[in-house]
Amino acid sequence: MDMATAKAENLDLFVNARHQFDRALTWIDDIKVGIVDYLINPKRTIHVRFPIHMDDGSIQTFHGFRVLHNRVRGPGKGGIRYHPDVTEAEVSALAAFMTWKTAVVDLPFGGGKGGVVCNPKELSRGELRRITRRFVTELGDTIGPHTDIPAPDMYTDQQTMAWIYDTFDMMHPGENNLAVVTGKPLEIGGSVGRNEATARGSLYATQQLLKCGVVPDMPTLEGVRVAVQGYGNAGSIAARLFHEAGARIVAVSDSHGGICSDGGLDPDKVLAHKNEEGSVVGLPDTTTISNEELLAYDCDILIPAALECQIHAANADDVKARLIVEDANGPLTIMADEIMHAKNIVVLPDIVANSGGVVVSYFEWVQNLENQQWDLEKVEKFLRKRMTRAVDETVKRWTVLDEKYKSGFNGTQSGPTLRDAALVTAIKRVATVVLQRDIWP
Ligand code: NAD
Repeated sequence: MDMATAKAENLDLFVNARHQFDRALTWIDDIKVGIVDYLINPKRTIHVRFPIHMDDGSIQTFHGFRVLHNRVRGPGKGGIRYHPDVTEAEVSALAAFMTWKTAVVDLPFGGGKGGVVCNPKELSRGELRRITRRFVTELGDTIGPHTDIPAPDMYTDQQTMAWIYDTFDMMHPGENNLAVVTGKPLEIGGSVGRNEATARGSLYATQQLLKCGVVPDMPTLEGVRVAVQGYGNAGSIAARLFHEAGARIVAVSDSHGGICSDGGLDPDKVLAHKNEEGSVVGLPDTTTISNEELLAYDCDILIPAALECQIHAANADDVKARLIVEDANGPLTIMADEIMHAKNIVVLPDIVANSGGVVVSYFEWVQNLENQQWDLEKVEKFLRKRMTRAVDETVKRWTVLDEKYKSGFNGTQSGPTLRDAALVTAIKRVATVVLQRDIWP
């Protein structure tokens, strides 16, 4: 790919999400044309502005929004992020991903996402608490256990979820309101296993994909060399779990850079170093590399677990892995996807690979509604079942699409990808319910 083309690439997440949707649509020959606009665009976007007393005595007005992309299969589900650069377009794309993600793992949810434009690194705990409480008050009954259910996302955590629950509970006394939000602390209705659910789900999904024989000469994780970009919740736990499952973690990175060791890294030691020093960089007996070098590292599996659009037209050609497991949302751009396809590098798409988080959020919601507390064994058993089924269905759909392609269907495409297959399943599930519910008056 020449640099001019690479530079011209559009890195807007909504443009990427739209392209993926349009591409998947070309594989569906029985969609009702009139519902396409309804399926891709958000059903509803709420903007709120509210003033907050800051610690220094001043007043600052904040802007927040919540996008409900689709809720025909159940209440909206998706995180709330606090970030200075959060935009409506980004949140809309992420809300759409949630619709397809919940559909592909067959949860009774739709898709949602929210955000508040703020810089949590510059806000005190008290300011964050006041922002959260006021934001939830402004959203009012647009969120709720059966309408739209938030969860943590970038720079929001268990504490934020506890504030959301408490604020909503004060507005609805005398009801069981625990199911209004997931990702809560264990003591107030959180689920065991939620913290590592995304990484554990991606492990189960990868193991099943390999079992299906999708990656030539890689039937299991035994001895497989893995590189992980991002060492936060998803990345650090994935490194540990893949290591425990027999893989060798050869390179990892965070926002400060990366480290590698062909002999293999000990993920626990890497994490301890990061906790102490603020970065994975500098762990004794490792070589420092840049993030670009990490993405191009000689490995079998690459797990992008940091940000969106990390692998793009300008660096996709350098990827040497044979399988990419998308723990992050949208880590590959449109062109990166095409380059991987041309190079026969298999991509386990985000809506399957990282869906373990929302699966265990669903378990939390069910436990809350039924006043139950599951044990870890049950959570992991049920998670594996969901992930295995989603992978099997995706691979099966991919086989069907490939047969259709080989017999001449869809000549405009270069053949189906696993992302196409997962999206086709998800879109068909949502479209079927739209028609069955006959939602037009
Ligand atoms: P996190 O904040 O815990 O970790 C992010 C990590 O990425 C940090 O280690 C940070 O240093 C690193 N990072 C930031 N910029 C980087 C860069 N340019 N290069 C390399 N590393 C960089 O976040 P998380 O919860 O682990 O989420 C990571 C990704 O996984 C996001 O895309 C998120 O949407 C996705 N995801 C997370 C969950 C979940 O349950 N945590 C669920 C689904 C999807």
